[in-house]
Parts: sequence; C-alpha cells; structure tokens
Amino acid sequence: MGSIADNLGSVTRLIQKATLQAGREPGSVSLLAVSKTRTAQELREAVAAGQRAFGENYLQEALDKMAELHDLKDIDWHFIGPIQSNKTRQIASAFSWVHSVDRLKVARRLNEQRETGLAPLNICLQVNINNEPSKSGCQPEELPELVSQISLLPGLSLRGLMAIPDPDQTEPALSASFRKLANTLKELRQEHPKAGPLDTLSMGMSGDLELAIAAGATWVRIGTAIFGGRAPKS
Ligand SMILES: *Cc1c(COP(=O)(O)O)cnc(C)c1O
Repeated sequence: MGSIADNLGSVTRLIQKATLQAGREPGSVSLLAVSKTRTAQELREAVAAGQRAFGENYLQEALDKMAELHDLKDIDWHFIGPIQSNKTRQIASAFSWVHSVDRLKVARRLNEQRETGLAPLNICLQVNINNEPSKSGCQPEELPELVSQISLLPGLSLRGLMAIPDPDQTEPALSASFRKLANTLKELRQEHPKAGPLDTLSMGMSGDLELAIAAGATWVRIGTAIFGGRAPKS
C-alpha cells in the first residue's frame, strides 16, 4: 500500500472510473473515509490530502479524535456504527450525518437532542438487506412506517438508506443486494414525496465499491483501501 495520500488518489480514481462506466454524472458519488481504529495523526494526513468526510463507528473513539483535531475546521463527521439509545445525545451534537439509524426510538431521541441552532441532522436508515440474523438494520418491510414517522421530526433530514450486504455472497448476489436497496429507495421516494430529500444511498466498501456505484451508491464508505489493513483496536 502507498501513503494515505496515494491511496486516497487511487480510490478517487476508482470512484471516477466506476461512475463514468455506470453512465452516471461525474461527482455524484462521494467518498466517506472510514477512520475507525485510525489515529488522529492518520486522519490529519487524510485531511492534508483533501479528504473532508470521515466515518466513525465508536462514539468515544470519535469524540477523542474530534478533540485532538479541533484545530481542523471543516471536517464532516459521519456516525456509521450501531447506536445505543443512551448515546444519542452526543451523536446528535457532534455529527452531521448518522448512517445507522434503524429504529424509531433512536430517531426520536436524535431529533429531540439535536440542538435547534444546528442544521437538521442528516440521517440514513440502515436496512438489513440480506436478512441476516445477527446484523443491525431494520427489515425492508418496516421502512414505510419508519419513513412516515421520521418525516414528522423537524430536527432530522431523511436522506436515504444504508446497507452492509452479506460480504460472503457471490458478485451477482451482492450486486442484486445493492440494486434492491436502490429500488427500495426509489419506491419510498414515490410513496413519501415529502418525507425528506431521500437522495442518498450509502453502500459500498473497499471490496465492492464498483458494484455499489453501478447500482447507484451516492456515498461509498471506504476504510482499508485508504488506511491499509485494519489496525487492531486498542
Ligand atoms: C469498517 C466499515 C466500512 C469500511 O470497510 P472497508 O472494507 O475497510 O472499506 C464501511 N462501513 C461500515 C459500516 C464499517 O463499519
């Protein structure tokens, strides 16, 4: 692997190529650098190379890095990990996006706890797209009710859907999972035209970003292809 800056360059080119190949508009896919287990210094390197959006899975780890990096102004923090409902207050104030909302209770708390001076919190609903027993995410059948209820919450902007498909699928099955998420978003947009922008598909990681982009991803969440093999959690 090269330096973080080199890796960011390679990933950016991969995204551009896949976007073009999919016949999609240049710039329609954004890169979320997934920085869980990475040090503040590694994030600093990524910021120096032009990266602004970072995805974190663990609240305390993220807050520690935010404190260390407070001198860097325009970082965009995204929460992408499982959410304990007693942690929503800090999530609602420290992040601009939450990709992993999967139940109404959490949405309601984030809405109540988002300070009124801040822009609405951008959220995606995480969907357990392959119906895996131990995976977070709501079932697709729960989405219409969740969307109706969440559309009433002024502190949240309902941006779209997120999924982490079963990585052990064949490529065609993985592709089908991404397309299913894209179709689900399209249906929700038709049935709930006023529920929020519903313009976002957060899907695709280091190993499958091309497939996700071909299916319509707007955020790809990339860790190892930028930062190298996963660092052990200390
Ligand atoms: C770790 C993680 C990623 C990044 O995965 P890589 O394979 O390292 O690119 C993306 N999304 C979520 C939710 C993650 O936890």
